Amino acid sequence: MHWVDYQRPESLDAALQAFAANAGNAKALAGGTDLLVQMRAGRCASGVLVDIKNIPELNEMSYSPEQGLTLGAAVPCYRIYGDKTVSAAYPALIDAVSIIGGTQIQGRASVGGNLCNAAPSADVVPVLIALGVVCKVTSAGGTREIAAEDFCVAPGKNALAAGELLVSLHFPPPALQSGARYIRFIPRNEMDIAVAGAGVSVTLADGRFSAARVALASVAPTPLFAREAGEALVGRPVHAASIAKAAAAAKAAAKPIDDMRGTAAYRRNLCAVLTRRALEDAVARAGGKL
Ligand SMILES: Cc1cc2nc3c(=O)[nH]c(=O)nc-3n(C[C@H](O)[C@H](O)[C@H](O)COP(=O)(O)OP(=O)(O)OC[C@H]3O[C@@H](n4cnc5c(N)ncnc54)[C@H](O)[C@@H]3O)c2cc1C
Repeated sequence: MHWVDYQRPESLDAALQAFAANAGNAKALAGGTDLLVQMRAGRCASGVLVDIKNIPELNEMSYSPEQGLTLGAAVPCYRIYGDKTVSAAYPALIDAVSIIGGTQIQGRASVGGNLCNAAPSADVVPVLIALGVVCKVTSAGGTREIAAEDFCVAPGKNALAAGELLVSLHFPPPALQSGARYIRFIPRNEMDIAVAGAGVSVTLADGRFSAARVALASVAPTPLFAREAGEALVGRPVHAASIAKAAAAAKAAAKPIDDMRGTAAYRRNLCAVLTRRALEDAVARAGGKL
């Protein structure tokens, strides 16, 4: 690893100034569990690391049933699953943050870092998409919002412009009779990259699906919003046949490649199986019966 400068701003303004002063040469450092590995491997060069873990806005974690959850981009996984209220309100988020690496990684890794790193296999991103999360992004020039499904634009590339920082993620309050779930398939029990993953959310009303979203991991160049799979459920009865249609739509939406973890055909089949299982669990979490 070559010599890098390290800065640890204590405020958002100071961080934005650091990015503006080092245009194109500064990288945000959250937990460092992606960034430092990539720098050591020579896959990412940066002259200045701006440590964002001491910035209050990036460490916020506030929830109310009316407003939903505001999650600072640098909050580490262990703080999220260590919070009983957040865990009860967003169990699908806990599904994802509690399987990232192992305990040591979860002590550092953030949801913001998982999203900004924009890996196709990122485990938290399908949950953010399924839950309709909106990302707050800021720079010296102002603040804007990006929907989670628009944030990752290519493998390892996100929608942030130079000098922009992801500040926080807003999770809408869970609707009545709603449930969500994330499941991934890996060939061993932990510490592996998803061969495929499915994050889903459903809302039920009068025995039917009134809303549903499905997102997939590791089966496209970015985490994939399988819009058609969610739409296949809306208005249909809460029944295994409806879920089978959504699972088929998820399989059709996937655009996987062959690699050492699995063939494209295997991944497509996994999409159907994981989407079905995740939807069954989400229905149960919503208090529904199949
Ligand atoms: C052993 C090991 C196991 C792992 N297992 C998993 C796994 O099971 N599932 C999984 O999905 N990932 C896994 N990862 C990858 C990694 O831990 C996660 O992606 C993690 O969430 C990254 O968060 P971080 O805070 O460490 O990000 P960092 O490494 O600090 O940052 C990642 C990237 O995002 C940028 N960035 C971070 N925060 C911001 C921000 N607020 N604004 C703008 N840019 C920002 C950084 O500049 C960098 O480019 C693993 C990594 C290791 C080393």
